[in-house]
Amino acid sequence: MTKKRIPWDQYFMMQSVLLASRSTCNRLSVGATIVRDKRIIAGGYNGSVSGDVHCIDEGCYLVDGHCVRTIHAEMNAICSVQSLGNKRMARRFT
Ligand SMILES: [Zn+2]
Repeated sequence: MTKKRIPWDQYFMMQSVLLASRSTCNRLSVGATIVRDKRIIAGGYNGSVSGDVHCIDEGCYLVDGHCVRTIHAEMNAICSVQSLGNKRMARRFT
């Protein structure tokens, strides 16, 4: 009997769901996975930039009803790619 595997897109989306569990903002949990040629290049989640304080520790910093202490999961994932020097185009799963 052949084992049935999940499709690639579902696999990458599941990765994003897992990443969302690392969110540091209490208002929303989102994960993003950057993929190229069926390989995960980077991942991120919504939260503070690396090295900054987190909403889960200090509370959200709200301006006009939006938390400005955090950045989007996609931005954190792109920052991870940039920090590795990989600037090639890739797909994003959010
Ligand atoms: Zn927040």
